[in-house]
Amino acid sequence: MTEGRPSEDQLIGHWFRRSPPRPDVALGIGDDAALLSLPPGSELACAVDTLVEGTHFLPASPARSLGHRCLAVNLSDLAAMAATPAWALLSLSLEAPEPAWLDGFAEGLFALARRFEVVLVGGDTVAGPRAVSLTLLGHVPPGQAIRRSGARPGDGIWVTGWPGDAVAGRLLLAAGGAPAVPAQLSQVARFEYPEPRCAEGVTLRGIASAMLDLSDGLATDLARLLSASGAGAEVELDALPRSGGLALLPAEQALAHALYGGDDYELCFTVPPRHERALAGVSAGWGCPVTRIGRVTAAPGITWLRQGEPVPPPAGERFSHF
Ligand code: ADP
Ligand code: MG
Repeated sequence: MTEGRPSEDQLIGHWFRRSPPRPDVALGIGDDAALLSLPPGSELACAVDTLVEGTHFLPASPARSLGHRCLAVNLSDLAAMAATPAWALLSLSLEAPEPAWLDGFAEGLFALARRFEVVLVGGDTVAGPRAVSLTLLGHVPPGQAIRRSGARPGDGIWVTGWPGDAVAGRLLLAAGGAPAVPAQLSQVARFEYPEPRCAEGVTLRGIASAMLDLSDGLATDLARLLSASGAGAEVELDALPRSGGLALLPAEQALAHALYGGDDYELCFTVPPRHERALAGVSAGWGCPVTRIGRVTAAPGITWLRQGEPVPPPAGERFSHF
């Protein structure tokens, strides 16, 4: 590349034309549009997420983390549909192309893309305030996507991983202090490098009755699933998974993080009793724990329980994008 700032074509060629060929990509980066072949008969699953500097990430946040997160949040959306991810489009708005920043960003993005066999097939590059928008396309056999609307009274409610850790990590970073112990380091990692539950989501086809991924906090997101299903829930607060990092916090704060924190990118799903054995079978092969936190009820709204007894909604501030 010539000295100084790269041109737009140089930028795309150097940092973003990195995906290996794939038989289902007839044409990738370089023409006016990409040409892709869906597996015959399957449905196309599409998601897009935008991260804006100052709103979704701090100016100081590592470029590598941003590259990872802009793909991870979309992988999590496709995982929540039980879809298989395949192709990505990246829209990048930058004040100026800074090679060091682009190096980190591309490393984070393509490291995750390789692991999940996603190829970048196009995008757009514009001058403006720093923001990243990624569109992810994938596929699912017809009728097998898992929607939010399928939960029925009596179904169990389950979550993967450790909701609440990511927000604890984000707050540690915002406070500027260095994480002191391994449990805190892993919370920071869960915020900066969330692990999308793609392999897990796909195995829930035919098992889960409803599913979504947790981006705005368990309480808010579970309410969305329940309202889409026309149902309510009882949630046992003492059953919520508690990571080593959350256990370091005062109990009330840990609970508020788990319920209201946001940025978790864990899966929350419902399973009819007749499929619980099948869930035990598939989840034995997962890379994360799965925890039953409650059950779906016919009565609307969420009833919070402690040791089976109803309690008032736990205190805490809800995550908000605005
Ligand atoms: P056009 O002006 O026709 O929109 P561009 O010059 O913006 O085309 O893009 C040229 C090619 O590079 C297209 O194939 C486009 O999809 C791809 N592209 C542009 N920006 C990016 C990016 N940030 N990441 C990946 N591909 C990109
Ligand atoms: Mg064009």
